[in-house]
Amino acid sequence: MSNTDFLLAVEDLSVTFDGFKAIDNLVLYLDRNELRVIIGPNGAGKTTLLDVICGRTRAAAGSIKFKNEELTSLPEHIRVRRGIGRKFQTPSIYENLSVFKNLELSFPQGRSVLGALLFKCTDEVKARVQVVSEEIGLADKLDVEAGQLSHGQKQWLEIGMLLMQEPELLMLDEPVAGMSARERELTAGLLQRICKNRSVIVIEHDMDFVKQIAHKVTVMHQGKILAEGTMDKVQNDPRVIDVYLGH
Ligand code: ADP
Repeated sequence: MSNTDFLLAVEDLSVTFDGFKAIDNLVLYLDRNELRVIIGPNGAGKTTLLDVICGRTRAAAGSIKFKNEELTSLPEHIRVRRGIGRKFQTPSIYENLSVFKNLELSFPQGRSVLGALLFKCTDEVKARVQVVSEEIGLADKLDVEAGQLSHGQKQWLEIGMLLMQEPELLMLDEPVAGMSARERELTAGLLQRICKNRSVIVIEHDMDFVKQIAHKVTVMHQGKILAEGTMDKVQNDPRVIDVYLGH
């Protein structure tokens, strides 16, 4: 496979904070329809990696190509339009609005302005809300105020708000933190559905969940990739056991 065939190609990437290399010459390739999990000890650089891919943090060196287009100099909101969605650990939903409104308001801005003016586009938004609400399992909760949802449902709603923008890459930071076993199960199903036609990168510490969802695991340590491959492969790697799994 040539490097131009990947959805995301990160090459020789470095991020520094006051001279400290949080990401150190990192190389990572992500396929289309891939569900990649990033694991590693605290301080390994996992969050910084997602921050630099979505444009929240600047790269000191290296290249980030998405669909073969260089992203490194593009601001965060343009990267969203190019198809990169990022969810943080704390949900940022509108608690006093309905599930429907939360999803509707997440429709890409340029189109929702038109949507307010043109009936046809409003129908398009409604149709999209329907599709997304079914995908996240909240189709029967459209009239419910978001603040009334369970913790897990709030997390799914926020994923739905990202899906409204039709991303091709979704990056999630510990999506099952604080969820019940049943919610974890449903989230695994949701992520598997999502990557049927998109790619997903997840930072996760819950190894049972990682085993359940990961196509491939990247282990980070001190800003570098320590190991990469299937969960079976990395969990038997003595270096991974030494710095992370053995603790
Ligand atoms: P992880 O997500 O793997 O726990 P982070 O990406 O949060 O790791 O952090 C990697 C390293 O970079 C840590 O040593 C952290 O203290 C440092 N770091 C992260 N963000 C900043 C920042 N804004 N300013 C200074 N240092 C930072």
